Amino acid sequence: MLRETVRSKTARLKKIIVALDGAYPEAHCELDHQSPLELLIATILSAQCTDKRVNIVTVELFRKYRSAADYANAPVAELEQAIKTTGFFRNKARNIKAACAAIVEKHGGQVPQTMEELIQLGGVGRKTANVVLGNAFGLNVGVVVDTHVARLSQRLGLTKQKTPEKIEKDLMGLVPQPQWALFSHWLIWHGRRRCFARKPDCVNCETLKLCPRIGVRK
Ligand code: SF4
Repeated sequence: MLRETVRSKTARLKKIIVALDGAYPEAHCELDHQSPLELLIATILSAQCTDKRVNIVTVELFRKYRSAADYANAPVAELEQAIKTTGFFRNKARNIKAACAAIVEKHGGQVPQTMEELIQLGGVGRKTANVVLGNAFGLNVGVVVDTHVARLSQRLGLTKQKTPEKIEKDLMGLVPQPQWALFSHWLIWHGRRRCFARKPDCVNCETLKLCPRIGVRK
């Protein structure tokens, strides 16, 4: 692909957004939750695990543990057992307990609403914080970069970067801030339904005419 000016990339991105919005008008976070705390827990559990599996596990988990104190006070072995099928359960249980203990001690039991405070909680990184801020609080502080967002941003020629932090920075410079949370949802939905990791369905893709298909075998 020839070097693209920022202006033409922005114009192309506008059209990509229109196409994705048309394809996925109902795009939203697919992790079931009823509160910021539930979304925080579900997002921690979603590392290396499908949303579908997380949603199965959280039905019982959220029935049993209702507050940050419930998680903080739970015996770690009990918590591990409850989340075992999401994988990496020992780490996840440790992170959930650490985060919830900090929420109780420093934030009166309420999930904090700033990036700075969220990433201070044990086991909560920028991606998890962005999910919570964007979806539980409606705050567009950053762009969630998961494996789908990273892959699609590269294929669509929106970034050449490889690390989530750098990809996020590029996207924040291109996508209008009010659409940061939605933009992640659109890319995640498109990645799950069309732009698959192994065999992207380019022939039927809604953004085919706008996509340089970087790194895709043509
Ligand atoms: S054209 Fe192909 S590579 Fe580009 S977004 Fe669509 S499915 Fe992905």
